[in-house]
Amino acid sequence: MIAVPFHQNAGAVRGFVLFSRFAAVVVGASALVVLAGWCWQLPLLTTLAHGPHAMTPNAALAFVLSGAALLAQGLAPVRWHAGTWLSLAVMGIGLATLGEHLWSVDAGIDHLFDDPASRAPRARMAVPVAIALALLGALGLLVSLQRCLYLREIIALVLLAIVVTGLASYAVALAGSISGPFEQVPLQTLLMLLLMVLGWLSSTPATGLTRVATADTFGGALARRLLLPSLLLPVLFLFVFEVSQSLLGLPETLALALVALSSGGAVAGLVWWVASLLDKLERQRMESALLRNDAGTDALTGLANRRAFDDALASLLRGQRERDAVFSLLMLDLDRFKTFNDDFGHLAGDQVLRVTGKLLRTAVRPSDVAARYGGEEFALLLPDTDAAAAGEAAARILRAFRAFAWPQRAVTVSIGVAQATVGDSATDLIERADAALYEAKRAGRDRAAMATSVSAASAVVAP
Ligand code: GH3
Ligand code: MG
Ligand code: MG
Repeated sequence: MIAVPFHQNAGAVRGFVLFSRFAAVVVGASALVVLAGWCWQLPLLTTLAHGPHAMTPNAALAFVLSGAALLAQGLAPVRWHAGTWLSLAVMGIGLATLGEHLWSVDAGIDHLFDDPASRAPRARMAVPVAIALALLGALGLLVSLQRCLYLREIIALVLLAIVVTGLASYAVALAGSISGPFEQVPLQTLLMLLLMVLGWLSSTPATGLTRVATADTFGGALARRLLLPSLLLPVLFLFVFEVSQSLLGLPETLALALVALSSGGAVAGLVWWVASLLDKLERQRMESALLRNDAGTDALTGLANRRAFDDALASLLRGQRERDAVFSLLMLDLDRFKTFNDDFGHLAGDQVLRVTGKLLRTAVRPSDVAARYGGEEFALLLPDTDAAAAGEAAARILRAFRAFAWPQRAVTVSIGVAQATVGDSATDLIERADAALYEAKRAGRDRAAMATSVSAASAVVAP
């Protein structure tokens, strides 16, 4: 099997790397804003979406560090190990908080920005966030160290699952019902987490999951378009379901029908998207095939042109050498065509050439090659045909010319027939067929002549 080299779409690779930096900057900056909100006790900055849940300062700190790690990994990979240390710190924050939850100890990091006057219950990082931060740190650590490709993909997938579950329960919670482990998780935490996971995945576009998404293939184009929608659409439908039930007051069956219809519509949309991509690709293929065909076709007659004839002849000669295959060549030249042009004009002459193309095509088998050799000269390559059978084909062509009802006056053709012999070059064979053609002309035209031997002696076939 031939191994096809793996090509990456340069634009997609650049896009992924840029996205990774963008994610790092956006997450880092928004987490800084949250930290500032805690610092100066501005609740507006700590709770993005309205609701009781603020992002905790230690989560914000972890996101600042993770954003910085991702940026450092993109800008100066390995050199200062900044990505490694910062990610280790992120992992530390996640694990410490988890430890606090597990053993009910108070490490105190959340007190950093407590307002003693308000005496409000101190916000604690929710367990899913703590787990996610520990995993996010581990992901950053492994990417920075360029280690354990499979493990970091698994971590990334687990993180994506956490984010999607969180977003889904948020969608449900927004509509006003449900509670659960994700109840305490603020929306901006989930969004930052999503950006960070995708950012880490995109920072190494040549490896792992993103390798396919950056491939310069149809599969790559599909992955780039469909992966994210298929990740987020279920969340959207859950939201639609909850909203139609609790806000619009639709009965459950109706809400279910609404979701079924809209998910059907979304699937149809995706299928349409894929289909239009496939359609475009196939038309491009067909166009390039047509171009390739055009390059080998004579525009006036629709027959093979000289180049295609040369290629076909070379391939038949190769077949003869390798497999001892028999084939024959017919060279044809219209009789007194100059006079025809003089008498009826070039346009009428061109029409004769077109008709000649049709007559030749119908006179030979589909596997034969009918070509316009140049001007009013034509050539036929007949595979698996010896001189005798080629002579019969020539006679058939002569009859077809005679039988055709030519509008101006009868047009005839002279034909030289040569069977390829072992050791022939293209020039040898063409010269032999040409010599036979000359014999046919000399003997009175409207007939075929056989080249009987390499020495170009010809036997004239009676008209
Ligand atoms: P012969 O029987 O000996 O072949 O006589 P002939 O007049 O056909 O001589 P020749 O084969 O040398 O003729 C070539 C003529 O073919 C010259 C030119 O007027 C005509 N011709 C070549 N190409 C074209 C073309 O594309 N269109 C038209 N209308 N005429 C062409
Ligand atoms: Mg000629
Ligand atoms: Mg001629």
